[in-house]
Amino acid sequence: MSHPTDESCIFCKIVAGQLPCFKLLEDETTIAFMDINPVNPGHALAVAKGHWPTVDVIPPDVLADVARTAQRVAKAAIATLKPTGVNLLQANGAGAGQSVPHLHVHILPRRPDDGATLNWTYRPGDRAEIEEISRRLKAALE
Ligand code: 5GP
Ligand code: ZN
Repeated sequence: MSHPTDESCIFCKIVAGQLPCFKLLEDETTIAFMDINPVNPGHALAVAKGHWPTVDVIPPDVLADVARTAQRVAKAAIATLKPTGVNLLQANGAGAGQSVPHLHVHILPRRPDDGATLNWTYRPGDRAEIEEISRRLKAALE
């Protein structure tokens, strides 16, 4: 299926396979992969394949597809990592803390006293740890 793309967009490059990611799943309209600056272990992103920046411009059926993908990843994270909770977060616009203007939902497993806030500072995670968790999540996907 064709979808809008933006050649300067980092997530469009990941969708196109031009940049690597630790991919969890992919379907016709969405992709899910690990966040490279995880707030907590298991932090992942459910991403529309098409380049729609924000909730007000994405077609509603694609938004529903992203929600379905986020649910699959959240279920795998809950089953595998047994977090104290999971936040699904989605930012629209720089004023809301959105740094990549290509619609995505954060799947953010929580740990006790992790200090996570609505907007956070990006710190690169350990690649080997991210990859190891991505394998466990992939194995638990339904
Ligand atoms: P936002 O700030 O737009 O809500 O979230 C963007 C997310 O994308 C951030 O959590 C950031 O760590 C993540 N991110 C930015 N660049 C890359 C990348 O090249 N690869 C991956 N996997 N995640 C990225
Ligand atoms: Zn894009």
